[in-house]
Amino acid sequence: MDLHFDIVGAQGPKRYFDALTREKISHAYLFSGPSGVGKKTFARRLAQSLLCLAPKEAVLGYDGTCSSCMLFAARNARHPDFLEHTGALKIGERDVAMGFYEGDELHARDLVRQLSMQSYGGGMRVLLLGDVEFASPAAANALLKFLEEPPRGVVMLLTTPVPESLLPTIRSRVVELRFPRLSTAEVAEILTRMQYGDADAKLGASLGGGSVTRAIAALGGEDESLRATVIGWFFETLRGKAPPSAWASRETLDEGIETVKTLVRDWIVANAGDGVALVSLDQEKRLRALRPIGGKQAAALLVRLDEAQHLAQTNVPPAMVGELLRMALTTVVSS
Ligand SMILES: [Zn+2]
Repeated sequence: MDLHFDIVGAQGPKRYFDALTREKISHAYLFSGPSGVGKKTFARRLAQSLLCLAPKEAVLGYDGTCSSCMLFAARNARHPDFLEHTGALKIGERDVAMGFYEGDELHARDLVRQLSMQSYGGGMRVLLLGDVEFASPAAANALLKFLEEPPRGVVMLLTTPVPESLLPTIRSRVVELRFPRLSTAEVAEILTRMQYGDADAKLGASLGGGSVTRAIAALGGEDESLRATVIGWFFETLRGKAPPSAWASRETLDEGIETVKTLVRDWIVANAGDGVALVSLDQEKRLRALRPIGGKQAAALLVRLDEAQHLAQTNVPPAMVGELLRMALTTVVSS
């Protein structure tokens, strides 16, 4: 039989599940690792595999044609034995007997109640809590209760980029699997599968830093406007036009400094002539047209960028950090 489990990357988790049988599967997993590397996608495919009705030994793999798989493919339906929630989980009303998804959002109490019921399909039930956070200690405790006495046939999949944020008592009761950053080639492959053209896939992969989410943002999401603004500001500053760094706010500072660092790194390697590829492929011409920078000057600039990045984590006003960046760049061109 033809089974699918088509996931790019995630070699470690794939190896882990390939070595398991369905009987040996744990009742709770934590998928940790950077944002945008496919943790939730993997979890959904794993859920589909576990609920697929095709007879099989392996944990990973589904036929894509059974009635269970059809529910995963349907746009307007959801599988009654697969529950998914993303983000902060609230505790919910104690005495309101609300069914799953009947309210506006999923609450921890509903969840525990629902998981204690029989599955609809007579098989497993799978719960996915993506980017899991708890709105209150009570919500975390409700989940902890579940983990202490897991109902039979329930598999809980948690994902988070910050496993340290979870209670140690929760973390110690789940099997943690680490999802590494994707390679540039893997990001490009995923973007190609998502119907991006070759040039965009290549650019997105280059800017994505191993994250599909970042790649897509850089190609035209909200980040694009920030990135474009910071790029414009960067080149203007180097031309001595010295505009104020109006892009620097509490929300944008981190990402903005990251963009400046990438540009500076590209500026340094662009003229080094040792064949190192630029990250900012779309800015290659402008970067190569800049006066070469290297040696002590480059090192000093990188130190000042690191200082700015450090200050961005403190209470120093973002506009002031932006001004320090501007001065660091201006010093390089005027020296
Ligand atoms: Zn199936």
